[in-house]
Amino acid sequence: MAALWPRRLLLTAALRLGGRRRGSATALGPPGSGSGSAARPCSGDGGGGVLRHLLLKLRATGPLTVAEYMREALTNPGQGYYTRRGGVGGDFVTAPEVSQLPGEVIGLWCLSEWMAAGRPAAMQLVELGPGTGALTDDILRVFKQLASLLSKCDLSIHLVEVSPKLSETQAQMLTGGKVQSNPEDEAAYMKGISKTGIPVYWYRGIQDVPQGYSFYIAHEFLDALPIHKFQRTEKGWREVLVDIDPEASDQLRFVLSPSSTPATENFIQPEETRDHVEVCPEAGVLIQRLASRIEKDGGAALIADYGHDGTKTDTFRGFRNHKLHDVLKAPGTADLTADVDFSYLRKMAQGKIATLGPIKQREFLKNMGVDLRMQVLLQNSRDSATREQLLHSYDMLMNPKKMGDRFHFFALLPHHRLTPPHKEHNLQSKSPLPPVAGFGELLLK
Ligand code: SAH
Repeated sequence: MAALWPRRLLLTAALRLGGRRRGSATALGPPGSGSGSAARPCSGDGGGGVLRHLLLKLRATGPLTVAEYMREALTNPGQGYYTRRGGVGGDFVTAPEVSQLPGEVIGLWCLSEWMAAGRPAAMQLVELGPGTGALTDDILRVFKQLASLLSKCDLSIHLVEVSPKLSETQAQMLTGGKVQSNPEDEAAYMKGISKTGIPVYWYRGIQDVPQGYSFYIAHEFLDALPIHKFQRTEKGWREVLVDIDPEASDQLRFVLSPSSTPATENFIQPEETRDHVEVCPEAGVLIQRLASRIEKDGGAALIADYGHDGTKTDTFRGFRNHKLHDVLKAPGTADLTADVDFSYLRKMAQGKIATLGPIKQREFLKNMGVDLRMQVLLQNSRDSATREQLLHSYDMLMNPKKMGDRFHFFALLPHHRLTPPHKEHNLQSKSPLPPVAGFGELLLK
């Protein structure tokens, strides 16, 4: 009955997991029009530092690529949007902030894959861009409640975070603030012990995270990585660049490169049919790194984000105070985001590993038994305000017009997880490979 165990795990978990102990986050603002994430941190302060720095740079060296512009706006060491954000104060509202369901489901997904791999003796949970740390906190609660399963597993948490302020917020959330900065002889810049007794490490990049059997989680992370933008013209592909507006010397505008650039040569596929294309090479490099690690050490990656499968064109957006914001105005004070191109990620995996998805969040969560879990949470909630909050966050996650159809899940797995390495395995082994939870329908009978 091996094929039934993901279902059994999900049903047991739906009934046994407790509620979330943290205070519930503030309600979401209205989702922005078009694509991109409205449910992201936002800023109310003036900024100005990034713009000044960029104007000097543009005067000295000429137009910047959109990727360079986005990198400065989001992660400039002193003034970038993420570098300055602490995530405290109630306006940091991604899905894990308003609902415990994404974290629970992702925790169960990892456990389910760990069991399918024969329960390896050690497991690293790696989160890329953990925001306030809410997602990892919810995953750790799942691990704690199903501790009997994990009692023999050496578990550790590894967080990749570029923002010093957000890493403090994460430390508070996960360890109660008991952390040691700059530990000697380690690639990690901070370490601590979670409230549930598990070691937690912080790094600046994935390359610093130790190798080993790992689950890599990237929730609303890839859409914050810098993109290049390209426009088809009568003379061929041109790169969209950012320059000083000649009409207003303290403002920016988009221009087209006068000729092709190395990026147009390298990033546009000959068979491309769209007229406008966005490419995120940093996401490509990340996928290549994850693919090498998963191929060598096993484990999986689960990527959850706003995105498309190589069909959309102009998705570059800014958000400030829950509203759409001109991407070129006041850089460093607004969140900039571009939808993830999952077809590009698949290409970058270069066949080293298998990929599953993208699948819409609405379907993934349903396949993971989220409706049953909701019933249990509603039955157990004592007051109408909690019930209302639960229903509100469920609607945000599942409504096709909100995140339900716009947010997707995409997995990277070793080939042997989906296809047995030798044909003989199929003949000899009595139990077929268990299905990967979430990517196929959950049959309750
Ligand atoms: N995953 C969280 C937060 C998403 S916001 C959630 O879904 O709630 C994006 C996160 O990625 C923030 O923590 C931000 O500081 C971090 N981040 C952005 N660019 C990064 C980069 N280049 N390297 C590491 N972390 C980055």
